[in-house]
Amino acid sequence: MQNLKQTTNQITEQDEQRIGFGDATVHELKTLLTAIIVSAELLADELQMDRKSMPVRLTQNIIRSAHSLDEKLSNFSAMAGLLAGDFSFQPEYLEIGPVIQSVTAQLYPITKSKKQSLAVELPPSLPSVKSQRQYLEQILLNLLTNASKFTPEGGKITVIASQNDKRLVIQVTDNGMGIPADKQELIFQPYYQVNGGKGSGLGLAITKLLVELHGGKIWLESISGQGSRFFFSLPL
Ligand code: ADP
Repeated sequence: MQNLKQTTNQITEQDEQRIGFGDATVHELKTLLTAIIVSAELLADELQMDRKSMPVRLTQNIIRSAHSLDEKLSNFSAMAGLLAGDFSFQPEYLEIGPVIQSVTAQLYPITKSKKQSLAVELPPSLPSVKSQRQYLEQILLNLLTNASKFTPEGGKITVIASQNDKRLVIQVTDNGMGIPADKQELIFQPYYQVNGGKGSGLGLAITKLLVELHGGKIWLESISGQGSRFFFSLPL
């Protein structure tokens, strides 16, 4: 098994200490969060008021913040597990289409709430790819969550899969805020965020580790103010 830490020189011992807290704690916190989210969603249904009224808006804030905290916890726990070598990679042959469809379905409530379009473009046939479904879903979910998060209301998000020689290449594009050229290398470092922000700054570091675990590569094209196009390749 390759040591993931050696695949990137961007993670320091100090980073490890910052993320090194136990899975049991994460699990406990996530269980409590689920109760908060479910209760707040029920409350939102009960309120049945004008969507712009203060109680409804405050309840939506609770739901949004709880989801964001949940995402942070997942990322901390995934990163800690990856760095500790506490994972197993058991790839199998997968069809990429159903994996993309399942991840876009998970993201749909978020894009819907921001009135963003979410399209998938797949060629009529693609070869199967050797991967572990859970990791492939995590890669796609991280890229799509970012695409939605950094794109304003009404924006456009597209996932495109294609075969390029002996590689499967997947693109996640958005027409959001984009990333300045001098920051494009930095965003794959743990904790780096272009404008500060509410996330953990870990999503892309984890995504890069997971793509590299497959023997693939991740890169991007982006123009500040116009949008971003993230690519990752998986060997076929
Ligand atoms: P997080 O999303 O938790 O901040 P990430 O590691 O996923 O952390 O991303 C790091 C930073 O890269 C983000 O804070 C943001 O500044 C930038 N970024 C990532 N994806 C996009 C995107 N699609 N559009 C604009 N900026 C992005």
